Amino acid sequence: MGKKDRTTPRMAYASLRDMPGTRVMFWVVDDCPYCGERHLHIAGHLRMADPGESLGEYPAPCDPSRMYEVALTPRPKRKQGKEARRKARRDGKDEVLDDDKW
Ligand SMILES: [Zn+2]
Repeated sequence: MGKKDRTTPRMAYASLRDMPGTRVMFWVVDDCPYCGERHLHIAGHLRMADPGESLGEYPAPCDPSRMYEVALTPRPKRKQGKEARRKARRDGKDEVLDDDKW
């Protein structure tokens, strides 16, 4: 519980939703790191180039004196699967190769 814990915003994982009938997108934080509730943040207009630009630090709606960092929810495996594993293996190999060199 050092100073770092207080100043570093906690991660708040969000998924992008659009509001039916509108072109407004929201970041939905399903599990607030502070209160466990759901919070919404406007991500922008559907025509906006990159809703990812609206990710970042926000004051938690349940406690505006605290910040949290709205970030994309890590994808459940699927796409990562092979490539991530291959990459990890590649990285591992590099390390091994380095060891061999020494
Ligand atoms: Zn909250």
